Amino acid sequence: CGIVGIVGSEAVADRLVDALKRLEYRGYDSAGVATLVDGKLGRRRAEGKLVNLERRLAGEPLAGTIGIAHTRWATHGAPTENNAHPHFVDGIAIVHNGIIENFAEIKQELIAEGATFQTQTDTEVAGQLLARLIRDGMRPKEAMQAMLKRVTGAYALAVLFESLPDTIMAARNGPPLAIGHGNGEMYLGSDAIALAPFTNEITYLTDGDWAVLTRDGVAIFDGEGRVVSRPRTTSMAAA
Ligand code: GLU
Repeated sequence: CGIVGIVGSEAVADRLVDALKRLEYRGYDSAGVATLVDGKLGRRRAEGKLVNLERRLAGEPLAGTIGIAHTRWATHGAPTENNAHPHFVDGIAIVHNGIIENFAEIKQELIAEGATFQTQTDTEVAGQLLARLIRDGMRPKEAMQAMLKRVTGAYALAVLFESLPDTIMAARNGPPLAIGHGNGEMYLGSDAIALAPFTNEITYLTDGDWAVLTRDGVAIFDGEGRVVSRPRTTSMAAA
């Protein structure tokens, strides 16, 4: 399973799928990609191998210079196209590797408040919670921090917001997550191998970190929202 993201200056969909191929060694049962075009989210998802997703994209290409993509190894919910990430909730797209341990409790609470769920995944609970916090008046960054405070478990996740067309947010608590520094582009990946075709300049998030990526760079925060500094390293991974 894996995560990739690009805040780019040219089309990203095919590059995202190529980066996912470099994470195939981790195993997966389905895959998907989401991009933003003129402030609107679009996505393609497919069960099975990445070639199925590529076929989907060939038939119905996805434009956009910012996007996130995912290979899923199902833990909660069958490995169907509908349960494949990215999940969409109210103008938010989310991808996630790992498990949200307290998803059932949060889900009950959100359902009691009127939320309707589209998937059986634990991941959608994080997306629905984020959407609820934004509806309640929080800005995306505040909502991200509050959502991360509430969820427990092991996760790497990435989020795209229709309201922030130049930004990807990401968080790590357990599974690794690497930020890649490009030239007028920024990247996100489960490891440096996924990002090697784009850049060897890597900053690894530490457990409990979350990050805001734009074309100009990355800001990294701890759970309390304090800016933290993580070293930038040169990866040896081959492109
Ligand atoms: N728990 C999530 C799901 O089942 C993510 C699984 C993964 O790591 O790919 O959808």
